[in-house]
Amino acid sequence: MDVLEKLRELGRNLYWTWHPEVIDIFRDLDPELWRDLNHNPMEFLRQLSSQRLAERLDMLAIDARISQAFHHMEEYLRDKNVWGAWQAGPLRTAPVAYFSAEFGLHEALPTYAGGLGMLAGDHLKAASDIGVPLVGVGLFYARGYFSQRLDSSGWQHEEYFTADVEQLPLTRVLDGSGQPLRVHVETDRNGIWAGLWTAQVGRNRLILLDTNVEGNDEECRALTSQLYGGDHRVRIRQELVLGVGGVRAMGAMGIRPGVLHLNEGHSAFAVLEMARTLMNRDGRDFESVRDFVAARTVFTTHTPVEAGHDRFDAALVEETLGPLRRELKVSPEQLMALGRRDPANAAEPFCMTILGLKFSRYRNAVSDLHGHVSRAMWQGLWPGRSVDEVPIGHITNGVHTASWLSVPVAQLYRRHLGENWEQRMCDPEVWAAMDRIDDLEFWEQQQILKAHLVGHMRRRVAQQEKARGTALPDGRELDPAVLTIGFARRFAEYKRGDLILRDPERLARLLNDPNRPVQIICAGKAHPADNKGKELIQKVFRFAHDPRFAGRIVFVEDYNINIARHLVHGVDVWLNTPLRPMEACGTSGQKVVLNGGLNLSTLDGWWAQAYDGTNGFAIGAGGEHVDPARQGELDAAALYDVLETQVVPLFYDRGSDGVPRGWVARQKNAIRTLAWRFSAHRMMMDYTLRCYLPASGALTALTVCPYRGGQ
Ligand SMILES: *Cc1c(COP(=O)(O)O)cnc(C)c1O
Repeated sequence: MDVLEKLRELGRNLYWTWHPEVIDIFRDLDPELWRDLNHNPMEFLRQLSSQRLAERLDMLAIDARISQAFHHMEEYLRDKNVWGAWQAGPLRTAPVAYFSAEFGLHEALPTYAGGLGMLAGDHLKAASDIGVPLVGVGLFYARGYFSQRLDSSGWQHEEYFTADVEQLPLTRVLDGSGQPLRVHVETDRNGIWAGLWTAQVGRNRLILLDTNVEGNDEECRALTSQLYGGDHRVRIRQELVLGVGGVRAMGAMGIRPGVLHLNEGHSAFAVLEMARTLMNRDGRDFESVRDFVAARTVFTTHTPVEAGHDRFDAALVEETLGPLRRELKVSPEQLMALGRRDPANAAEPFCMTILGLKFSRYRNAVSDLHGHVSRAMWQGLWPGRSVDEVPIGHITNGVHTASWLSVPVAQLYRRHLGENWEQRMCDPEVWAAMDRIDDLEFWEQQQILKAHLVGHMRRRVAQQEKARGTALPDGRELDPAVLTIGFARRFAEYKRGDLILRDPERLARLLNDPNRPVQIICAGKAHPADNKGKELIQKVFRFAHDPRFAGRIVFVEDYNINIARHLVHGVDVWLNTPLRPMEACGTSGQKVVLNGGLNLSTLDGWWAQAYDGTNGFAIGAGGEHVDPARQGELDAAALYDVLETQVVPLFYDRGSDGVPRGWVARQKNAIRTLAWRFSAHRMMMDYTLRCYLPASGALTALTVCPYRGGQ
């Protein structure tokens, strides 16, 4: 195999996205081209001229690195000495089918919008690492979510680019005769064809359905072009393609899943298609296969926000699911009842979450607190049960460590936690060694990462300002010596992106303290239809351009995986201000922990169970005032208090060597107590032991592993 072929093999498997030695190879071959092409190796290798490649190979003597990286990947793919080989054997012949409307794997693949997608991406990567056989099923959105641009008044505009699918690390699925494989889904309006792509994610595959294929009319071709775009009809038809089309795609590809995992309600129609398949195979009726399907289905709910649960009216459900319903031999009323809290209420729309909850035996929320909230929220589905008896548990989300860890910190861990720390990262003992790392070494590493972040953000901000014809007040820029707070998330009302802006005078004093200054880097998108969210962004923008906050607040446009990576590597403090208990989990703060940043958050989502008084900072004490406006006032006051009395003093309390000992102690506490608990490897073990194996009917009584469940 020649060098170019090895490079192509490396680029085709998304394995490279979490293996820095491969990323370094691409970057070293042509740093500018690599950056200009959005770090997309397939397009990069196509555009890199053979002359340039030969030149660079010669100059860098990079052949050996390419061969080594290639062999490491082969070893990784073949490795039998993984957790799943011992613990998840039964899934090998009948893998988990993991359905999600989004998958956040890399900035070049426009198949994600935010947290749900990032979680799904990390889920696939973790399954690969620890050897749990799993197939992802999603949709291919050529136009993705959207790119964000702010105008000179700070108002968000959405821009759409169409990705050239041929340039992405995807492979078209062909049938036996070499023709593109397609699946068909009928509706009473028209039929929809979907072509199939696969992405290789380490050992596992992701299947993406794409309706932009021959045989479809214009409307159907455009159906999957955009994520979370379009009206209710587009939405339910996308969900039909995802759920029903997804099951058919696996069938057409010869994959026989043993377990269905529905990551949120969007894909819940999959259970109906599974039921249909079994009815046809075994000649049984709908009621008799229903339990069988539910016993093999895992459902994860992700949001306590009402608008986050898709609901469709009866006419739309019938138009879309009519053909499938008739095959299931159920009446329109019987079908609607599956998606209703009160089956007899003809006015109630069809809720995808309810279908998922009713049609699965393994149901979970995504943090401890969210478990309580979900049980209360869906109590009505189990009449006669108390809230505590509602059968919804929780498995807390975690992040894929290798994807979010900066290279220098990974090296630090290798030196101090042991060469094979990554294989043992779910073992708390491994992290006890944090204390052995020298404070000065640790601190200096952090400050280097921060300087890198500040440099990157200065460039981005300058480009943005220039592009829209605005300027930063006094031309003041971010400063790497200053305590740096990151705030990046979707601008939705309950996340209260303006909490820290509520008292401008107090904020100005805090940020401009001559001896102990503070700066804030903000980023995040608002949903295109969410004007309240856009107003919050505009408010941040105005602060960033107010001379009182010159150089101390910036807003970085177009939050995406790449910006997230820079932020979580380099910030001192990660701010999170959701109105409790609206945040289901949140994962960005977990990424920050790995790199030494400290969380400053209301006690909501994962932080409510993670914070122990020594591993970060809390805003307030977990209050849930009946009046959200009042709670906002209380939380804003608590936020300023904790900044003024704890965060800032601790950060600037330096020893004679310039090291803030108390701060570093807190950083180490955070890593030691949180890194293993909130890793996607631990999450994958939880899902496997508590859901996948029992659902596949194959739970073995003995489990031997260095693992503590139930986080
Ligand atoms: C991690 C991540 C998220 C999710 O983070 P939250 O804490 O849920 O806000 C969203 N978007 C991107 C790009 C991320 O990397």
